[in-house]
Amino acid sequence: MNICIKNGFIITADSNDTCMEGCVIIENGVITYVGSQESAPETAADRTIDACGGIVMPGFVDTHTHVPMNLLRGYADDMALMDWLQNSIWPAEAKLTGEAVYWGSMLAMAELAAAGVTCFSDMYNFNEQIAKAADDSGLRALIATAVLDADGQGERRLQKAAELFDYVKDFRRVNAAVGPHAEYTVSPEMFVKAADLAAQKGCRIHVHISETRGEHDDCVARHGKTPIGLLHSLGVTDLPVMAAHCVWVSDDDIAVMAEKNMSVLSCPGSNLKLGSGIARVAKMLEAGVNVSCATDGAASNNNLSMMEEMTLISLLQKGVNQEPTLLPAKTAVRIATINGAKALGLDALTGSIEAGKQADIVVIDTSGIRYCPKTNLLHHLVYSGSDADVALTMVGGEIVYENGRITFGDINEIKAKASEYAEKLFSA
Ligand SMILES: [Zn+2]
Repeated sequence: MNICIKNGFIITADSNDTCMEGCVIIENGVITYVGSQESAPETAADRTIDACGGIVMPGFVDTHTHVPMNLLRGYADDMALMDWLQNSIWPAEAKLTGEAVYWGSMLAMAELAAAGVTCFSDMYNFNEQIAKAADDSGLRALIATAVLDADGQGERRLQKAAELFDYVKDFRRVNAAVGPHAEYTVSPEMFVKAADLAAQKGCRIHVHISETRGEHDDCVARHGKTPIGLLHSLGVTDLPVMAAHCVWVSDDDIAVMAEKNMSVLSCPGSNLKLGSGIARVAKMLEAGVNVSCATDGAASNNNLSMMEEMTLISLLQKGVNQEPTLLPAKTAVRIATINGAKALGLDALTGSIEAGKQADIVVIDTSGIRYCPKTNLLHHLVYSGSDADVALTMVGGEIVYENGRITFGDINEIKAKASEYAEKLFSA
């Protein structure tokens, strides 16, 4: 199947941040041409999509999610992280079933597709159901099994983490990772076992790290080291690490992150809502750390809007540093796209619009009021745009969302099932 997207303002997110007016040609899911309409090769397109002057950009890469938590949206708000986890979230999660996880994940797939997200990286339990939802939707996914041993279930979880690799091997766009949950739920011994499993599978480590001041202080009291210092001393940082949050990191931590090529999965919306603080993203970027951004789960955000995160990550750095030149719009776009692909180790495949890459592409309708006048479409996208403008989302050349509808299921059925299973979690 050949597709031509014409009349676009193309934000490529390539290494030169090239933007251009023109068209994108896709053959069997792969981008084969990006450039001006005039120089485009003659190809018989099975479908031509007219972007009508709108933005054509790489799909967003949401690097830290807990997709089944869409079931818990609005269930426990305005609480501190530990109170929220221990008294609301964990008791509700104890009632989860595989079916509940599947339908919660499908609700998230619909929300992600409608928000222009083509790829996400998750950490949770019931990962087979999450992987199945990702595969059913067509979205690209890296799914980490949460491994923790604070409750004495470490070995069982490690076993589940190992089994996921076999389960996903025939899925088209789903890969597995290992997710030691956090310093406060995983013993040093279990961190080493999780790292060994990741090394054996050649995959990434996905971990929550330095989310709150309390976590930082407790870890220093327990181990005499920061959470990143602890991971470093255990050898975990010798593997590719995807580090969610990184709000409370020291200058030494940032140096380790740069030296070890760790990727940060910054969740500005979730960190604000849980009162955790604001990550020093500008400082990390300056040190050469790969920073991506993410929504976190819908129970702590409370939506899966990467456009919101992209705006927040830029504005927060300008505001807290009292420096408006920091984190310009084009950097915010990179953080939300190609840097995310790098974090997941998928940047050869996706994250930018370049010939040879998978057609993971979003078309944004710029005919609305918020894009008028058309002074600078990339700036409008970051500082003025909204998810409501997403006109089309495709993954590997397959359309998953168009004209306000998902293409992989009946949204009314998904909403009804998700509501039904959510209800069961809330009942005593
Ligand atoms: Zn998280």
